[in-house]
Amino acid sequence: MVKIHNFGAGPAKLPEEVYDIIKKELTNYENSGISLLETSHRTATYLNLNTEIQTVVRRLLNVPANYKILFLSGGGQGEFAAVPLNLISRTGTADYVVTGAWSAKAAKEAKKYGKVNIVTPPTDRYTEIPDQSTWKLDPNASYVHICTNETIHGIEFDFIPDTKGVPLVADMSSNFMSKKVDVSKFGVIYGGAQKNIGTSGVALVIVREDLLNQALPICPSILDWTVNAKADSILNTPPMFAIYIMGRVLQWIERKGGLDKMAELATKKSSIIYNIIEESKGFYYAPVAKKDRSRMNIPFRIGSPQGNDALEKEFLKGAEAIGLIQLKGHRDVGGIRASTYNAVTVEEVEALAKYMKDFYSKHSK
Ligand SMILES: *Cc1c(COP(=O)(O)O)cnc(C)c1O
Repeated sequence: MVKIHNFGAGPAKLPEEVYDIIKKELTNYENSGISLLETSHRTATYLNLNTEIQTVVRRLLNVPANYKILFLSGGGQGEFAAVPLNLISRTGTADYVVTGAWSAKAAKEAKKYGKVNIVTPPTDRYTEIPDQSTWKLDPNASYVHICTNETIHGIEFDFIPDTKGVPLVADMSSNFMSKKVDVSKFGVIYGGAQKNIGTSGVALVIVREDLLNQALPICPSILDWTVNAKADSILNTPPMFAIYIMGRVLQWIERKGGLDKMAELATKKSSIIYNIIEESKGFYYAPVAKKDRSRMNIPFRIGSPQGNDALEKEFLKGAEAIGLIQLKGHRDVGGIRASTYNAVTVEEVEALAKYMKDFYSKHSK
């Protein structure tokens, strides 16, 4: 069998070392004689794990003491609802910076619970973050929402916007733990784990304490940050195994050198691919403005800016034949998408780079 290199956007590749640990611990978790899968969430075993992972998150991101760390059900989209349900009551309105499919979806969900103001100019083609000077921020907004990495469109923030005192809320689902972040600049940071820090089913939420205690009365308890903070994320049965895997991934990140190392590798890996795209003189085409290109998800077309269907099909087929998989672009944008998350190695990216060069040489004659 050929060696598989998984460039999928999510659920995405997990580090091989983490699989080794999971395999060892699967049926006998920490010498309990049973699996974590059949352990009560009220045991000391699970309580210790719950505390341990919060500590790792706090260490990695240098989370200030006045922030709670929550592990919640419902993934990223659960939080699309939780954000307005927990925060919009203050003024009844919220600002959304829409830079791609995910922030657009977050804004749509929020509209169910209050007035949503889209601060960025309308567009149907997301290729850059509109300059901050063009955003129509409302000083009366309960919060400003951004998506720091648009997984589908391949657009990433490399700055923290100035919201003039209005709490900043960020969906970091697809670039969580890929670089250091000044948490104190945010009111809330959240994300589903299955892109860069684990598997599906759990959202990691980091919330500033002064933003608690203002949920709408209709907020379901399982989405209520205040209720969950009080219950230390064990209100009901949490997605324990997903939380456990996230913990093992975060410990792996620490062993590898932490977030500075992840950032260094992310830049290195994505640059390898972007450089090939640039050097191909239009054979490969990356639609996103250079200043906003994602280090995590690299969408591109082949043959022309609109893509050449036959060439793209041939590219994907040839890639799969040598083990380079899950490279098909999202159905909304088509083409190819290579995701270069933390678990993807430089060697794997080099294998893709070599294939891209060979494919280009073959077809550009
Ligand atoms: C995948 C993704 C989501 C949705 O996560 P789910 O866990 O599937 O609900 C939200 N935001 C971003 C940026 C994502 O990449």
